[in-house]
Amino acid sequence: MKPFLSVIALAMLALSGAAQAQQYPTRNVTMVVPFAAGGPTDTVARVVAQAMGKPMGQTVIVENKPSAGGILAPEQVKNARPDGYTILIHHIGMATIPTLYRQLRFNPLTDFEYIGLINEVPMTIVAKPAMPAKDFKEFLAYIKANKDKVTYANAGIGAASHLCGMLFMNAIQTDFLTVPYKGTGPAMNDLLGGQVDFMCDQTTSTTSQIKGGKIKVYGVTSAKRVPSLPDIPTLQEQGLKGADVGIWHGLYAPKGTPKPVLDKLVSSLQAALREPDVQQRFTDLGAVTFPPDKQTPAALQAHLKSEIDKWAPLIKKAGQYAD
Ligand code: ASP
Repeated sequence: MKPFLSVIALAMLALSGAAQAQQYPTRNVTMVVPFAAGGPTDTVARVVAQAMGKPMGQTVIVENKPSAGGILAPEQVKNARPDGYTILIHHIGMATIPTLYRQLRFNPLTDFEYIGLINEVPMTIVAKPAMPAKDFKEFLAYIKANKDKVTYANAGIGAASHLCGMLFMNAIQTDFLTVPYKGTGPAMNDLLGGQVDFMCDQTTSTTSQIKGGKIKVYGVTSAKRVPSLPDIPTLQEQGLKGADVGIWHGLYAPKGTPKPVLDKLVSSLQAALREPDVQQRFTDLGAVTFPPDKQTPAALQAHLKSEIDKWAPLIKKAGQYAD
């Protein structure tokens, strides 16, 4: 009798789980952001979360879980209930972290369900307002001459700003003292205040400061100039090879999230990215929205895998690790 009852209880539980998945979402959804509020990842998250609210029929709340390198948020989402109410936005760090960290408490390739790719954003080499250099050539001469004094801000090992800094320092064969933050939002505040000398950060955060003349800018990391910042030359144009990097963003859910829930998240992301307001906002910030065929679980999974394979040898060559 008892085993029979427990079979019925289990079957009822499964049925109610399935019914809940069909009705999803019945309350707010939380999108966890791995870096501080006010930074570039946060900016992308807020645009996407707000736009997903309409097709989801529920508010998508942004929750910042900042840490150097953005390594705590994925762990939090990995350990969340796989019911669609906690999702993760992350950038290229999901592909560089596995090589950079000897000890990591999540695996980007096995601990998540994939929702889709969002957009790609170039980075800019920017400096404090009082940086004396007028152009990239002078900037290089200045930081090399003052290499024991100048400081480079980043968002910790595994951050996009860390990756860009690593490529930049390798390309110019000069190392600088690095000051890590829990996101480049707070790093930007210190750059504006002149407490740190320079950094490499996404256009999603630097565009308004550059346009407002609040910081110095010496180049963009994309192969072509960014339409929203047409006067800023690329690093390549200025003779620097090997520091090109585009920061892509993707949306993830914990492993085991039911298929109907994932389907709703995928279609809501796609609807959000179709919104003309969202596309315009991204364009204004120098970001390029991935085409619809990339806004899918399969495309994110494939991109993540190919990016892990792409960056692993470069990181190993640079000999950079966190413990
Ligand atoms: N731009 C940061 C990074 O370097 C992240 C952030 O603060 O959004 O990854």
